Amino acid sequence: MSNQAANNSENNNVTLVLFHNDLRVADNATLLKASKISTDGKLLLVYASSLTDILDNKDHYDAYRYEAMGQARQQFLHESLADLNASLIQRGNRLLYLQKNLAALDTFAQLSELIEQQQVTDICISQTADYNQNKVYDLLQVKYPKIQWHVQTTATLFDGLPLEHLPKSFTQFRKQIETDYDLLHAEKDIAIYPTPESLAPLPENMQSRDECFFESQWSNEAGRDKPSQQPSSFRGGELNGLTHLYTYFGSDAPSTYKTTRNTLDDWTHSTKFSAWLANGSLSVNTVLNRLRRYERDIIANDSTYWIWFELLWREYFYWYAVTHQQKLFWFKGIAQHAPSTQLDENLLAQWKSGTTQYPIVNACMNQLRTTGYMSNRGRQLVASCFIHELGLDWRYGAAYFEQHLVDYDVGSNWGNWQYLAGVGADPRGCRQFNLDKQTQQYDPNGEFIRQWQGNTQKSD
Ligand SMILES: Cc1cc2nc3c(=O)[nH]c(=O)nc-3n(C[C@H](O)[C@H](O)[C@H](O)COP(=O)(O)OP(=O)(O)OC[C@H]3O[C@@H](n4cnc5c(N)ncnc54)[C@H](O)[C@@H]3O)c2cc1C
Repeated sequence: MSNQAANNSENNNVTLVLFHNDLRVADNATLLKASKISTDGKLLLVYASSLTDILDNKDHYDAYRYEAMGQARQQFLHESLADLNASLIQRGNRLLYLQKNLAALDTFAQLSELIEQQQVTDICISQTADYNQNKVYDLLQVKYPKIQWHVQTTATLFDGLPLEHLPKSFTQFRKQIETDYDLLHAEKDIAIYPTPESLAPLPENMQSRDECFFESQWSNEAGRDKPSQQPSSFRGGELNGLTHLYTYFGSDAPSTYKTTRNTLDDWTHSTKFSAWLANGSLSVNTVLNRLRRYERDIIANDSTYWIWFELLWREYFYWYAVTHQQKLFWFKGIAQHAPSTQLDENLLAQWKSGTTQYPIVNACMNQLRTTGYMSNRGRQLVASCFIHELGLDWRYGAAYFEQHLVDYDVGSNWGNWQYLAGVGADPRGCRQFNLDKQTQQYDPNGEFIRQWQGNTQKSD
């Protein structure tokens, strides 16, 4: 045996990847790093649900926190995990899934048990803007000071805050990014991390731990052998995300995006990348490269520019969440004064169940509850109604979105809500939409309202 081989066989390295919003194998710096440091060692690939339940957030989060994730969001997540699991199995490992078990052990306790039993030496994670998830990482670091942590960037275009300070408004941010970085007219693609061809195995004593292996009622092979019944719907998983990306840019839709993006309910009228981007089944680098290729090969116009413009909003809110931390969840947000709205359980229930006196709002809310999606225009209208017409505490609206949106993203959701509530990054203060005018403009024939039964009002 050569010295090299002797050293390798003594590698006791046990690496654990803690997936969060990086549910893919392509262009995943975290998985790639783990595959490199675990060569000849062992590898645990873990997704732990509800890890943040361990946190004591009574002061600012627990009041409006929801109990269970909405069905559409949960299904999308499970399809994504199933697809990830299939990719990991192809590479010689598999996904371990921690969820609250019958013994009522929370997932933090289960994760701790796993780390201790397997004598984990290294943990690989992706950088996240999620304040609560980061608090869990802090707890783990304090609990296991000897473990080496490896943090990679997988969710954004930039490894760190791309400017010295985050500007107060999106417009300043966009202008500075477009001046300081050559991403706007990139002739060359952004470098994409290679996909590991194979992965180190699980430790031997884990190989029969069936109770930890990922299983889902939504099929282990989501999307791979079961093409979607409805092409125009969100189906979770990297493969579905990539298929959607290529289908979208294989069509004419990108060249008219700017004129169609405000439509209330049409699959091709906006990109629909958000859900795959939010849980990391699609990397934003891959999306941007595909956009630039479309601009090089087909057409570069106002519409293709506007797709970039919206992707930059996503970047802005990512760095906004990183910058403002727990203020993202504060009633007064990043402003000096709290808004004059408050909680009213009855009005909140009407808004949630789509039984307000505003048909357009009801239709949007029914669509959200049923599908887990709502157009950007719809989100603006229902949030404006929530804050201005109903006078409610915006955090309850944001939490309801968090519960149901298939594309829930901490920065984009809470940042947009703050913006509309006038406690965030909007230089103009809060924004109120005229619901009658908006209905005339975006649903002149009442089709959307009919389709989503927006006319069902509360009878009393
Ligand atoms: C109150 C409110 C809450 C929201 N919550 C979320 C959320 O939890 N997750 C989320 O991804 N988006 C959120 N948005 C932003 C936006 O509504 C969705 O990103 C968009 O509707 C998703 O559809 P799409 O992929 O077709 O978007 P497109 O119009 O095709 O835009 C392309 C991409 O740009 C990004 N993007 C577009 N608009 C915004 C925006 N205003 N802020 C941040 N990113 C944007 C998304 O990644 C999107 O996929 C919210 C907006 C509002 C007003």
